[in-house]
Amino acid sequence: MKAIRVSEYGGPAVLKLEEIPAPQPAQGQVLVRNHAVGINPVDTYLRSNTDNRGPKLPYTPGSDAAGVVEAVGAGVGSVKPGDRVYIGGSVSGAYAELSLCTEAQVHPLPGNASFGQGAGMNVPYATAYHALIHRGHGAEGETLFVHGASGGVGIAAVQIARARGMTVIGTAGTPRGRQLVLEQGAHHVLDHGAPNYLKELTDLTGGTGPDIILEMLANVNLQNDLGVIAMRGRIVVIGNRGTVEINARFAMNKDAAILGMALFHASPAQLAGIHAALVEGLRNGTLRPVIAEEIPLAQAPRAHEAVMAAGHHGKIVLVP
Ligand code: NAP
Repeated sequence: MKAIRVSEYGGPAVLKLEEIPAPQPAQGQVLVRNHAVGINPVDTYLRSNTDNRGPKLPYTPGSDAAGVVEAVGAGVGSVKPGDRVYIGGSVSGAYAELSLCTEAQVHPLPGNASFGQGAGMNVPYATAYHALIHRGHGAEGETLFVHGASGGVGIAAVQIARARGMTVIGTAGTPRGRQLVLEQGAHHVLDHGAPNYLKELTDLTGGTGPDIILEMLANVNLQNDLGVIAMRGRIVVIGNRGTVEINARFAMNKDAAILGMALFHASPAQLAGIHAALVEGLRNGTLRPVIAEEIPLAQAPRAHEAVMAAGHHGKIVLVP
């Protein structure tokens, strides 16, 4: 089968298309033929070995894809060959024609969702759900500020929060991104590049500030978040690309909580609950991943450049 392989850490050019043996499912495993593969920023951090967290070389990147079950190993009861599925992690990697998964990594893809949308589910939607519900304890009637709402996680957060009955305010850096954020259900949208957008945020909340902030770029925004968060508010740090100096007195003055989160810390029970909710959201139409661009598998380096560029308006997917 064709797969993208990484044999040395580095820039996008280390992503090479190779022919490798197709994996076979052992007991409790599922082999999925991928029709679309989701690209996430974390794939680029692992490729360049940021924070020394790169996988053992050589490896096939990616954790997100959607396709059709090709074969199952002994003891697998939840899916059968021919079923449409999306995957949340795999044993063998996702940037490939086939992915070998454990049974728990495979989730049903309802007929109303495309394979591209299925490929946009795992990291973005599971992260948004874990951050908003498990970490932030977002509740109906509260106001959520999605600081960076035009990307994969941000759009997911907007849709999940709207379905939960929250008031949602999002940001994006371009007119196209802001239009998309509104279309996905945000009540209001702001420009995180504009000089006075945080004043507009405070005004939109009647002066109290948002109850929860989901933060996509904490190294830029954390101090400002502490300035605008409501009394007893929660700031959930999802994304961070550097260091930041904060005045902790701002947190004291608001009884505010700064909560870190990483999806890979979610327990198996939490992940099972998250995906049960996500599958139902796909089925009932409240969750609708937005695909910005489909790129052939062989052009994975271009996909890695695109996912790190500014001006987001949805997910980038690879097509094997
Ligand atoms: P993405 O699709 O690349 O989107 C990035 C988002 O950040 C866009 O909405 C972008 O808006 C926005 N942004 C750019 N400049 C900003 C600023 N100054 N203030 C606020 N937002 C800004 O990425 P993603 O997949 O949504 O992931 C977002 C971040 O979370 C990434 O850093 C990713 O690594 C991280 N993440 C963490 C976890 C975890 O487990 N903790 C899981 C998934 C992702 P414009 O392009 O419109 O400017």
